Amino acid sequence: MGKTGIVYDDIYLAHETGFHPENRERLRRTVSHLKATKLWDKLSLLKPRKATVEEVALVHSRNYIKSVERICAQGGGHLDADTVTSPSSYEAALYAVGGILDACDSVIRQQTVNCFCLVRPPGHHALPERAMGFCLFNNVAIAARYLQEKHSIKRVAIIDWDVHHGNGTEEIFYRDGSVFYFSIHRYPFYPGTGAADERGEGEGEGTTLNIPFSGWEGREVVLSKFEQAVLKDVAEFAPDFVLISAGFDAYERDPIGGLGLLIEDYRKMTDIVCALAQKTAKRRVISALEGGYSLEGLPLMVAQHLEGLLSASFE
Ligand SMILES: [Zn+2]
Repeated sequence: MGKTGIVYDDIYLAHETGFHPENRERLRRTVSHLKATKLWDKLSLLKPRKATVEEVALVHSRNYIKSVERICAQGGGHLDADTVTSPSSYEAALYAVGGILDACDSVIRQQTVNCFCLVRPPGHHALPERAMGFCLFNNVAIAARYLQEKHSIKRVAIIDWDVHHGNGTEEIFYRDGSVFYFSIHRYPFYPGTGAADERGEGEGEGTTLNIPFSGWEGREVVLSKFEQAVLKDVAEFAPDFVLISAGFDAYERDPIGGLGLLIEDYRKMTDIVCALAQKTAKRRVISALEGGYSLEGLPLMVAQHLEGLLSASFE
């Protein structure tokens, strides 16, 4: 058994969105590809637990958490224009958070070196007080706070390569110098934030880094700026732990995103992040699925990402 973990449970299929780009088929196809290619057998399967309300409240207000619970208990419905819930969405969202927290425990206890969390709903647009952009709870932001509070990790880097700016994560840590948020994304684009001059404030000044792209730069430019930022700016911050908001919608054929990236580029970006973690964070990397809506491409890109994590776990 390898030292790379994968978090997955069928509960993530119970978040029903109907005819929607963020649907359960994304995970179904990914799992079946990983099993068919036997990559699945090389990974340690982590069965997620359900996060507690206290854990979700590391980032979100209790009123907001209650409101999600109530809407789902009443049968589900829209939380914003494009964020839809079903009766089991609250439960699935708690297991998404719990899965990432389990991955944190596993890496801290050295049962695994790194982990990929194949979860939904995604998280990086979720704000402390509201859902947004298909996201209910900010999985990765909660993990960063959990690492600090439960495991006494001081400095956490969050690397967000989803094609959309993670406005929720940025806002949560904007005035916090202990969490470095780095994002590449299309701009101007949904959700409208992520300009290069958003660099943090107060204690957090300089620990937010946005590299926006118009979409016409070409993949080589995107990859080289990504590498430079990770290995220079994020490395200078010297994180003790690295989290990835792993969206796969910068893929050239993504139906709602696209930044010209190819399937194999996800291996390259994974290797770059693992090189950073090797330098400063005892190789500790946890990544969690955000976007990525090409049903044909997503399983292949996740496989590339996992190959990178596996290779780093054997070094
Ligand atoms: Zn996205």
